[in-house]
Formats: sequence, structure tokens, C-alpha cells
Amino acid sequence: MVQSELTVHDIIEKIATFTNDPVPQITRLVYQESWTQAQDYLLGLAQKLGMDVAIDEMGNGILTIKGTKEGAVTLGSHIDSVVNAGKYDGVYGVAAAIVSVKELVEQYGQPTYDLQVLIFSEEEGSRFPMNFSGSLNVIDALPDIKQLQDREGFSFIEEREKALAPLKAKFPIGKAQMPISFAEIHIEQGPVLEIKQKQIGLVTGIVAQKKFTVTINGEANHAGTTPMSMRKDAFKHAIQLITYLENVAQQIGEPFVYTVGEIQLSPNVVNVIPGKAVFSIDVRHINAEVLDDFEEKLQAYVAKQETMIIVERWLNEPSEKMDEGFLSLLEEICHDKNSSYEKMASGAGHDTQVMNLVTKTALLFVPSRNGISHSPYEYTTAEDLERGKEILKEFIYRLAY
Ligand SMILES: [Zn+2]
Repeated sequence: MVQSELTVHDIIEKIATFTNDPVPQITRLVYQESWTQAQDYLLGLAQKLGMDVAIDEMGNGILTIKGTKEGAVTLGSHIDSVVNAGKYDGVYGVAAAIVSVKELVEQYGQPTYDLQVLIFSEEEGSRFPMNFSGSLNVIDALPDIKQLQDREGFSFIEEREKALAPLKAKFPIGKAQMPISFAEIHIEQGPVLEIKQKQIGLVTGIVAQKKFTVTINGEANHAGTTPMSMRKDAFKHAIQLITYLENVAQQIGEPFVYTVGEIQLSPNVVNVIPGKAVFSIDVRHINAEVLDDFEEKLQAYVAKQETMIIVERWLNEPSEKMDEGFLSLLEEICHDKNSSYEKMASGAGHDTQVMNLVTKTALLFVPSRNGISHSPYEYTTAEDLERGKEILKEFIYRLAY
């Protein structure tokens, strides 16, 4: 390998070959064989580039260039994917981090602070019912995983040990240093940068989220013999509530988002009035109070109904604000490099929100063509990938040297 010519694009293309499905479909769930191959490749690459390499007990990759002082300026992202994903989600941030560190050391030599790249084992929650197990382990906040199983009943711990065995045979076991700062670059996964024709997204914060399951109990009955006035049609009540909330969402306005993505009717039969409707609600906004207001309106509506409606909120995640000093520094760097930028909130969750619990963070976006992500059609131009890496690299340079 001609190491001086290593590009972000090359690494992304290589990692894309580690998939359960034929390229360009990427499926690389945590602890599957394709996942082990990807982590093995990246750790081997980092070793060749002269970095100290280790894995922790979750399979997070820890790449280090020693500085002259204590403290680790940290950057990274994740290598797991959703089912039928694209090449860029997560992997771009890992590739950009590795190339940035390699180029910084080539250009400026030993840093003042350690440069620490974290290749998070898992972020998507697409195999086991848990998100962020990689970054949560780094900040010592991993919940109990003993009972965790995937849909096929495979145990998290057993699958992890199987997947890590070949890596443990080749690479030392280590533990990530608690960072003094954390930066992540990611594809936007939305259309804003493309529509506004901006090159870089500077993320001000990651949105707060609430998720609900709503159950409406009516009465299943004959579709032919039950007069309209005597029905207890659970689906009709669901439609009314969903439409009412759509109006609430319109009143709140953008950037608030409201989604009913899942609905089940029972008995779900052509000639039976639905006796039960169960549906999901997903709402997000950078200000958690906006979500509280939405929830109040939902509860007030439900309280006025005669029909039995049960609202269960099962997720209530606060927003995370990225560091303002880092944002100003990134704006300055974008100016210096003649890159146009947009300050924006992230509507999707990222490892940065976990790292934000223990350190100051920065999150950068590059454009996603047509705003598409979690799909084989996910695409970012090589030029945009390179520009993002340059901004990240300069940012890390200013912190670590
Ligand atoms: Zn991601």
C-alpha cells in the first residue's frame, strides 16, 4: 500500500466489502462475521500507519498517537450498520478520523496531547435492542447486558465473545482514555445541506426525542350488521387522534417532527370492525419543552374521550448541546478554508450525544445526496468527503498541537 495516498474514499470502499449482502447493499450488524472483518481490517491498517492499537471488552477499536502531555483529544464514529444500509453512515467518521490523524502526524509530528481515534463497536441498535453500547462502555455507563438477546435468541455476551476471539488473538486488550474533547464527522442523513447548497453542517445540538405507544380499545363486530351509530371502531378513533396530532404538529411548525410509523389493527380482517388499534408516535425537537407541550395536548385529548385510550411513553431523551466554543472555532475554520456552512440541529442520534455526557463535543455533517440514508442509495461525493475531513483535521490540529 502506498500509505501517503490513503484517502477517506478508499477506506469507505474497502469497508463496504465487509457486508452480509451483495454490494452496494450493506448489512453489517454488530458481532457478525462482516463486523469482525471490518474491525480487523481497520485495526491492521492503523497498526501499519504507526498507531498504538487495542480493543476493549466491547470490541471498540482504540487507536492512539502519544502526545507529550496527559489528555486525549478524541475523535471517531461507528462501524455497525442497519439492515440494507449504505456505505457512509458511521464509516465515514471512522475513515476521516484515521486519515486526519495520519496526515497530522506526517505534517506536524508528535502532538501535544494524545490523538485517540475510537472505532465504536455499535451505535445503530439494529441487532440487539440497545443503542450506543460501544460509546456507553467508553464512558463507563453501559447498562446491564446479561439478558440481552437478538431477535433470533442469540445472546449478546456469547455473540460478542465469538466475534472478539479472533481480534483478541491479534490485538492487545485496552481501555479508552476518558477524552478531554470529542469530535465526530458524519453524513447529514437529511436534505438540508443539499437544498441550501452548503458544504458543511455545524451541529448545534442533537434533538430531544419522545416515543409513545398508543392503544385504542373499541369493539370488534360484524361489518355488515352493526349500524354506524352503534360501532366502537378503534381504527376510526385512531385516525381522528392521528389527524388531531398532525394539526398540532403543523401549529408547532418546523423543525418539529412528528411521525406515526407503525400501526396494527386487530383482528385486521376485511369484514370485521377493528376492535383494537395500536400505533407508535415519534416526536423530536431541539427544545425538550416543545415535546412536553405536545405530550400535554395528547394527554388532554385522550382525557376528553369516552373510548379507552392508553398512552405509554417509553422513550424520553433530553437534547444534547454541542460546545459553543468549539462551534465558534469550527466557524472560523470554515471561513479560513472558504467552505460554506450551515448551523443546524441533528434530528438523528449519534455517538457524540453519549460522549457529550463526559466531555466537550463537536459534530460535523457533510451533504447526503437527495438526503437519503439507511439505504444503498446513500451517497456523498468524494470531494465533500475530502472537504469534511480537512475541516475535522484542522479542528483536531488546533486542539491537540
Ligand atoms: Zn451513524
